[in-house]
Amino acid sequence: MFTIISPDIQTYCDSHTEQESEVLKKLNRYTCANVLQPRMISGHFQGRFLAMISKMIKPKYILEIGTYTGYSALCLAEGLLDDGKLITIDINPEQEDIITKSIEGAGLKNKVQFIVGDAYNIIKTLPYQYDLVFIDADKQNYLKYYEQVLPLVNSGGYIICDNVLWSGKVVEPDALLKDKDTIAINQFNDFVAKDARVEKILIPIRDGIYVCRKR
Ligand code: SAH
Ligand code: CA
Repeated sequence: MFTIISPDIQTYCDSHTEQESEVLKKLNRYTCANVLQPRMISGHFQGRFLAMISKMIKPKYILEIGTYTGYSALCLAEGLLDDGKLITIDINPEQEDIITKSIEGAGLKNKVQFIVGDAYNIIKTLPYQYDLVFIDADKQNYLKYYEQVLPLVNSGGYIICDNVLWSGKVVEPDALLKDKDTIAINQFNDFVAKDARVEKILIPIRDGIYVCRKR
């Protein structure tokens, strides 16, 4: 797998980071063995990062765009307040069984809701204001999701966007070598960097995580 930092350093960081729970370990193993494109899963290290961030924020409402097999949703839900709720949306219904089982296994049945559908259309129907939004779906629509959710984020709340370094392709100097996703992520990153509505830091964890705080 692509790593921004050297594999040795990553292994060292992994080994000095909290381990996964049994439920997450099982979900990770299941995903790698049975689901297409398992590289999309957040996995141990990024999962612990998301859980730690969520525990710092202590959100009441979390929105996740792009569930996949539910790994990041379970990690983010770790920081929810007792009466908090996480809504996670995916256009692909195929992983519903494993998502539901994992939510139950983690004891989060009352806190985590999985909704199948196109994220943009679903978000329009939801009544919540969020303390934390995780954008991790179709890369060409990142800007659309960002503009959609920013008004729904509480002042002082966060939007976290995954894969914003896109395996390092964002710094590819040859424009002809850039695919549509890379171009979209470049435009998204440039937009966020200039957006005065948020404070932001692009962190080179795994495939790049943009952390934005609404002013
Ligand atoms: N957050 C997950 C990984 C998400 S992978 C984790 O870290 O483990 C990206 C997901 O976005 C895929 O499951 C894909 O089906 C979903 N997706 C793509 N387009 C979408 C859309 N328009 N609406 C909702 N989900 C979408
Ligand atoms: Ca991702």
